[in-house]
Amino acid sequence: MNSDAYIYLDYNATTPVDPEIFSEMEPYFKEHFGNPASAGHPWGWKAENAAERARLQVANLIGAKPNEVFFTSGATESNNWAVFGLVSKLREESPTEPIHILTSNVEHSSIKNSLEALKMQNVEVDFLPVNQYGQIEVETVRKALKPHTQMLSFIWMNNEIGSINPISELAALCKEKKIYFHTDATQAIGKIPMNVTDLGIDLMSFSGHKIYGPKGIGALFIRSKDPKVQIHPLLYGGGHERGQRSGTLNVPGIVGLGAAASFCQKNQVEETARLTQLRDIMWVKLQMALPGVLLNGHPSERSCNNLNITLSCSTDSLLPRIQNLGVSTGSACGTGQAAMSHVLKGLGLSPAESQRTLRISLGRWTTEKEILRAVEILQNAIPKRNT
Ligand code: PMP
Repeated sequence: MNSDAYIYLDYNATTPVDPEIFSEMEPYFKEHFGNPASAGHPWGWKAENAAERARLQVANLIGAKPNEVFFTSGATESNNWAVFGLVSKLREESPTEPIHILTSNVEHSSIKNSLEALKMQNVEVDFLPVNQYGQIEVETVRKALKPHTQMLSFIWMNNEIGSINPISELAALCKEKKIYFHTDATQAIGKIPMNVTDLGIDLMSFSGHKIYGPKGIGALFIRSKDPKVQIHPLLYGGGHERGQRSGTLNVPGIVGLGAAASFCQKNQVEETARLTQLRDIMWVKLQMALPGVLLNGHPSERSCNNLNITLSCSTDSLLPRIQNLGVSTGSACGTGQAAMSHVLKGLGLSPAESQRTLRISLGRWTTEKEILRAVEILQNAIPKRNT
């Protein structure tokens, strides 16, 4: 995947499409191009069958039933849909009742900005502080609950710092208090085993391009039983996805998401173990090569593929000297604004520390040779401290 000169270490930003997955998608761009909504001919049937097979593959990966999986254009849409769709439904049911939502100050911008927008529509939202590792603590949430708290939304695995939140405890708290629970599982899916049914998750967002599937496809899990979760659509139109999400289905994308999910289901344990080992080797080597380097996020309750590190020099001065390394400063999920990452701020980093922070994320094609070379490149690029 990488030539000798270039080393891609930004798999939290996006992953390449696995060639096996691409070969499953390819016929659905060409000979099987039908519209699944065309119920009267074999082109339509072929496309519909492919979408339903993919729905089953996705459901199997997350422990859901196929009718609980709704395809979207990606996790940004899923996150928007979960929060706007639920608020709209709650308002229809009880127009005068106040709505309070709890989330954290280190969420992905697609949750953060959706909830900020809902605040402008008179929804009360609290962005709770996280601990020193960037994790939300259940006690913090419990103390912040109000009689009219209707929803909790917490990221499962942080896209910048890799920390993992206590999802089963948060879901259990929601069950106890009869509150809806949404999680953004975009970075967690395929890296840790998950069963949404057993965990009691009500709504869960995720995306294809973080698991070696294509961009522009994702899904929202909506629980159908105990309780049956009902939200309003975000997109209205021809009534696709059982009336919940209109728009002609992106069949090649859906086939890709299904194939990616199926691959993860078969290989997740092995792949996570390999990446954890590589990540740990890299962290040991980084500490040897760069005295004083700091790791952000939790030391062990973190993504198998993520290292978020604070260095002794600013990344602005460093980046021109490490152009053959594909790494990220702060979050690559925004539009490249120079503003300080709200996640690093939520973690308690100063603006100066945040300017010295790099995210390194490993993936399916990362080799030990590459990470050793990457450490060497960083070591050569960072000015030595006078001791
Ligand atoms: N949530 C998280 C945690 C992410 O990492 C991303 C992608 N950067 C998104 C949501 C948005 O996903 P998409 O690119 O599919 O809209």
